[in-house]
Amino acid sequence: ESAFDVEAIRQQFPILSREIDGKPLVYLDNAATTQKPQCVIDALVDYYSTCNSNVHRGAHQLADEATRRYEGARDTVAEFINAYSRNEVIWTSGTTESINVVANGLAQLLTADDEVLVTEMEHHANLVTWQQACKRSGAKLVVVPIKDTGELDLEQFSALLNTRTKLVAFPHVSNALGTLNPIADLTAQAKAVDAWVLIDGAQGIAHEPVDVQVLGCDFYVFSAHKLFGPTGIGVLWGKEALLTEWPVWQTGGEMISEVSYQDAAWNVLPYRMEAGTPNISGAIGMAEAIRWFSELDMDAVQTHEAALLESATRQAEAFDGLTIVGTAPNKVGVLSFVMDEGHPADIGFLLDRQGVAIRTGHHCAEPLMGRLGVPGTARASFSIYNTLDEVDALFAALNKVKTMLG
Ligand code: PMP
Repeated sequence: ESAFDVEAIRQQFPILSREIDGKPLVYLDNAATTQKPQCVIDALVDYYSTCNSNVHRGAHQLADEATRRYEGARDTVAEFINAYSRNEVIWTSGTTESINVVANGLAQLLTADDEVLVTEMEHHANLVTWQQACKRSGAKLVVVPIKDTGELDLEQFSALLNTRTKLVAFPHVSNALGTLNPIADLTAQAKAVDAWVLIDGAQGIAHEPVDVQVLGCDFYVFSAHKLFGPTGIGVLWGKEALLTEWPVWQTGGEMISEVSYQDAAWNVLPYRMEAGTPNISGAIGMAEAIRWFSELDMDAVQTHEAALLESATRQAEAFDGLTIVGTAPNKVGVLSFVMDEGHPADIGFLLDRQGVAIRTGHHCAEPLMGRLGVPGTARASFSIYNTLDEVDALFAALNKVKTMLG
């Protein structure tokens, strides 16, 4: 933890000095959303205070300035994930909308002979969306099993891929279990049968370096709010040749090149996938978050987060009556668990009374909870600004919970 000054990082997040009922906030719900550093908050305020106006269409200086900041933000994202081109960065409202853009286009391309492959560990956003696209087109949704540890069954993954597989979608990191998937290997296998690959990066992007050129996937999607940026903004990255031809989902202003009463032609990328006035401040805030995050030493970030998870896992294993849900060897940022004494909702409530914020329930992964035979879990999830002391505070609080419930 030496190369990494966690206190200096904490200083930049105003919310972390809050108290909850007189107790210091211990924020361990980072898989739901991360907190925002002051520079991101300032970027939003500055945009609205100095150059708010609509982008691309104005004949005035404010519109020019807003457009420059907004399109500059696209460059920042493109560079961050090493996109081949800025045209491949499509703004959306977040991961969920990004998947919907791809899935609604896919539904028009699928036939009854096609298959779409997902995994048993999907968030609803990366399950229901494909499920509905398959229903509409008559294609088959194939679900790759996981092992009891929460790892993907790699033999099954290979066995289920075939020439009918049109698209394969999987999470970079599981939000419910923390499982880190071997995404480069999965992508290579899917590309070998000529399937398109979408990686749900919602939980990966803040914890793992992402280079879409190295990965070789076709789509990588993520949300700003899990990466220290604002809510309501996210990215669909896709290969330019694919996005150029992909059936558009939403239509309206900006995404057109020519319109008559009876017909319309679509704009060039990236605009053809972006209908209507975008989330301008959100894009600017997201870029500021990425600039802030990119200045950190990623190796030090990962070492720090691994130390948090390791300490949490060690204390959980030693905790009488607690069972960890998700024990894959490669995990990132998440400790999911159940306790003999109480329902996850009770655990969450009693932790909150002590200032410790976690999430409980099915984590938008209802079928996964069923597969694992739990009603839901209590989930502590970590970010760069968490400390080993906070991990200790979680377990001190859990000890009290155990007493109260027992
Ligand atoms: N996929 C995963 C793995 C997630 O963790 C989340 C957010 N919980 C989503 C998709 C959906 O992201 P959003 O709600 O930001 O659209």
